[in-house]
Amino acid sequence: MKSPLLGQFQPPNGEPHMLGPIQRIETPMHHFAEGEEVDYLIVGVGAGGGVLLQRLARAGFRVIGFDAGPFWDTERDWVSDEKGAHNLYWNDIRVTGGKHPLAFGANNSGKGVGGGTVHWASFTPRLHPSDFHIHSLDGVGVDWPMSYSDLKPYYELLELELPVSGPSYYPWGDPHGYPYGPHPMGGVGDALIRGCTKLGIGVSAGGPVAILNGSRADRPHCIYRGFCIQGCKVGAKASTLITHVPDAIKHGAEIRPNCMVSRVHIGPDRRATGVTYFDPEGRERFQKAKVVVIAGYAIETPRLLLNSACPGFENGLANSSDCVGRYLMAQAGNVVSGRFDGLVRMYKAPPAHALTEEFYETDPKRGFARGFAIQTVGPLPISFAKQMMSSKGSWGWGLRSVMMDYNHWAAFGFLGEILPHAENRVQIAEEKDPLGIPVAKITFNLGDNDKRLIKFGKDKTMEVMHAAGAQEVVQEARYAHLVGAARMGSDPKTSVVDQFGRTHDIANLFICDGSIMPTQGSANPGLTIMALAARIADYVIQQGSRVLNHNDRSVEPPPMRRDLSPPDTWGHGMPRI
Ligand SMILES: Cc1cc2nc3c(=O)[nH]c(=O)nc-3n(C[C@H](O)[C@H](O)[C@H](O)COP(=O)(O)OP(=O)(O)OC[C@H]3O[C@@H](n4cnc5c(N)ncnc54)[C@H](O)[C@@H]3O)c2cc1C
Ligand code: SF4
Repeated sequence: MKSPLLGQFQPPNGEPHMLGPIQRIETPMHHFAEGEEVDYLIVGVGAGGGVLLQRLARAGFRVIGFDAGPFWDTERDWVSDEKGAHNLYWNDIRVTGGKHPLAFGANNSGKGVGGGTVHWASFTPRLHPSDFHIHSLDGVGVDWPMSYSDLKPYYELLELELPVSGPSYYPWGDPHGYPYGPHPMGGVGDALIRGCTKLGIGVSAGGPVAILNGSRADRPHCIYRGFCIQGCKVGAKASTLITHVPDAIKHGAEIRPNCMVSRVHIGPDRRATGVTYFDPEGRERFQKAKVVVIAGYAIETPRLLLNSACPGFENGLANSSDCVGRYLMAQAGNVVSGRFDGLVRMYKAPPAHALTEEFYETDPKRGFARGFAIQTVGPLPISFAKQMMSSKGSWGWGLRSVMMDYNHWAAFGFLGEILPHAENRVQIAEEKDPLGIPVAKITFNLGDNDKRLIKFGKDKTMEVMHAAGAQEVVQEARYAHLVGAARMGSDPKTSVVDQFGRTHDIANLFICDGSIMPTQGSANPGLTIMALAARIADYVIQQGSRVLNHNDRSVEPPPMRRDLSPPDTWGHGMPRI
């Protein structure tokens, strides 16, 4: 089971699984016996599930993480090739509708250990303090049951664990600095800085982004060849697969890859007892647990809760408020592309490396509440071809000629806050997946505020592209980053979980992913999801047997457990300003 060079682990009933140097695991993975009750069972080992798993294992709990997708070996499974990376995404059928339907596939969730962090671009801005109180401040959306100050220490912690590179002074929201210095600029970042500077708009160069700009432990620095959304074979980009999962396994966690959880079971005492799942051979099995945590992403989490309806919970689990599946949010993610006379070569850098949050906060003069960010995106040729087809109508010879011109184009992403609406929701469709599990049906419509915000933000992003010197500017409407659909709140009548992810209805059923976010701001959500997961971990660890065996609740904030961070976190990086 042990290799002096690389390490390996043995999946249940499978062949020994080799792991590359950046995933080195020196101890064999622990396997819990069939029928053995574990303390914590986590459904989904992505951004939220991966961080929680690691901490629970370090704290000595018996914990299993299930993931519907593979345990990626970054050396063996990943290729620096755009098409070759398509199996990283959740490509299973989802039914989408409404007046402004969401597109699914590469654009949203991942499938496999690491979840969406495997193919995220790894922009890691924090939410702003205002994001936690948008109803009180702007009369829209809803307030969070916590403040920025509750999450701030966890932002700082995760920025060290991933770690995050960025400027030493970041001026927006709660101004702060980053522990690792900014990255050099690529052609797209250069264009964003040029355009913003010309218009007098402040801009951040070189991050915040969870990409190493110097080597650390087994992980090498970024080599700037732009395959971040294809998984980063190099290991410079953070994902929970390489930052948290190896440490979880070292501390006794079991991962069950290629295991799709189909139902959470509830006992006569109205507590969760475990889950049914399909093993890699398609056999249905049951795993017993004292506490079940769902961390399956904003679509699969409500799907599982609704599919687990049972006597006493006829509308789905934890759904007495009728909020499960509701208030699903996506960020507006229009891509604005500009053609320059000079070479840009947008593949020659991480897509994520420069941004502005100057338009993040509400400005009453603009005629809508909340705001947006403008960020670099660096589509590789297949994504670029799709953008040219939809934004320019390029086809045939026209598409061929624009593709030959690829090196002259730059692309900016506009990231706009769409408000939570009750009718934007996940329900269960008639259709079933190949395992016979009913799939998710998603309905999505934009409100008036959303439409005004998108129009303003798209026009501003195009203005910046023109100011950068582009002769031709086109744009494609799209969405990014799904969150919500099992939101947190203090009132059990209007929310699914409390501020620690604990469902109001079932004392030993938790949710720990982006679905618990009540609003989303216009920051990319990954860092916030991980910070929330670290706080949930501290809470359940402090509560101990009160969560494992009892129904009484406390909403006392936990002490922060810095000692549960993965190795090479403390004592690294620069002191913060
Ligand atoms: C192209 C792209 C770029 C992005 N770039 C950024 C970025 O720059 N910055 C940023 O902050 N965010 C980015 N994101 C978004 C970010 O990746 C997600 O917000 C984040 O990963 C969501 O975390 P999560 O914990 O909610 O779910 P995930 O990370 O998606 O994890 C969910 C996991 O649960 C598993 N699962 C689901 N259902 C089941 C089940 N029934 N049984 C077993 N396993 C199950 C899935 O396989 C998956 O591994 C990007 C996303 C995409 C698609
Ligand atoms: S650009 Fe850097 S972070 Fe992105 S894939 Fe290449 S090495 Fe990894």
